Amino acid sequence: MVVTRFAPSPTGYLHIGGLRTALFSYLWAKENGGKFVLRIEDTDKARNSEEATEAILKAFDWLGLEHDGEITYQSQRDDIYAKYIKQLLDEGKAYKCYMSKEELTELRETQMANKERTKYNGKYRDFDGTPPEGIQPVIRIKAPQTGEIIVKDGVKGDVVFQAEDILDDFVIARGDGAPTYNFVVAIDDHLMGINQVIRGDDHLSNTPKQMVVYEALGFPLPKFNHVPMIHNAAGKKLSKRDGATDVMAYKEMGYTPAALLNFLVRLGWSHGDQEIFSMDEMIHLFNPVDINKSASIYNTDKLDWLNAHYIKNSSNDELAQLLTEYGLVLTSHDKREILLDTLKERAKTLKELASLVNEVLSTPHEYDAKSVKKAFKDGAIEILNNFGKKIDACEELHLPVDYHAVMEGLATEMEIGFGKIGQPLRVALLGKLSGPGLDEVMAIIGKEETMLRIANAITANL
Ligand code: GLU
Repeated sequence: MVVTRFAPSPTGYLHIGGLRTALFSYLWAKENGGKFVLRIEDTDKARNSEEATEAILKAFDWLGLEHDGEITYQSQRDDIYAKYIKQLLDEGKAYKCYMSKEELTELRETQMANKERTKYNGKYRDFDGTPPEGIQPVIRIKAPQTGEIIVKDGVKGDVVFQAEDILDDFVIARGDGAPTYNFVVAIDDHLMGINQVIRGDDHLSNTPKQMVVYEALGFPLPKFNHVPMIHNAAGKKLSKRDGATDVMAYKEMGYTPAALLNFLVRLGWSHGDQEIFSMDEMIHLFNPVDINKSASIYNTDKLDWLNAHYIKNSSNDELAQLLTEYGLVLTSHDKREILLDTLKERAKTLKELASLVNEVLSTPHEYDAKSVKKAFKDGAIEILNNFGKKIDACEELHLPVDYHAVMEGLATEMEIGFGKIGQPLRVALLGKLSGPGLDEVMAIIGKEETMLRIANAITANL
């Protein structure tokens, strides 16, 4: 069974780079009928917060990404880590190092002066003398000093590291007994049964160290898949300004979960030239072997395009539900259908959709000056007056076509073009010259409100 994980450090909000690896991990587990588990890497007490963990869970909830089983918190697993530290010490695979801070600094400075790589020199590796007093030893693991460490990566292929270039006997527990990052990651991934690690390639340099831990503890290696970063259009690391922001900010901007997930799955993964993927399709088609080897480029236009697609293709029930976030309560009746059918074609975001809905449903109290200037030429008031009367006289006004017929009748009677009616009417109804079709607007707001808005515009003496 495939078991994947998402292992965020709760230092802040969930950003889209993290969400993308979470999504990839989720998809790959689901595709295989496996499990997607969540581990909170909260060992850095100074930088971690419960709010950050909650923010991550909230984002998952919004997006409908469910993790399997209980959440694992590293902060609650000190006993487990201590057990493995003891085991490695007992087996002679790790040792206590009594080097003082001053000594270490001196060593580093000498190495730097000699233009050597700074690393621990193995002073206490085979030490059997009397340890110096007053020093709480750190625990170091015996790492290979020579030879190759090959990460058999599912995305990048074999990545070869030379032990002497990257490894030394690194610390697995600090002087106060606290275990270190690479040590606990390897232990947790093993104990949690994770056999497919999908994570950002900013972690690739940690992998050889984690492999040393796996080896020392006799754990089988998981399959590693390191996903290239997301870059901005200039090919640089994504900054806040480009979109490397809190996932929940996308909610606030009016993106739908479906669009955001679809957008993210295509950042670094593709299936032919297909752009639109339902969740089922993503699960069915995603495979880490198809993850691109180079960085992907974040493109806001693409996200907008996808979002518009999902808005357009959502049912009105779904949209009404999503719009409740904007304080809009649209109950299901014919008017709502016309309203949403008309407006969902025009909105790139839910926020835009909400403001279009509000624009149509609220009686305008202000009129855009430029629109007024353009629309209220000679005769406009008379036309509006006539139109209002005609509407008033009509009994059966329900659908857009009914209102259209009234406009047509007036155009014929007054021998004028549609534009002559449409322009002042649009300003009267919506306060400006842009917006959705007038027939639809009138059908949505109904006869009384149409007449009220016309009367208001006439009184406003535009
Ligand atoms: N906690 C790490 C992070 O938030 C991820 C570790 C991993 O995926 O192995 O970047």
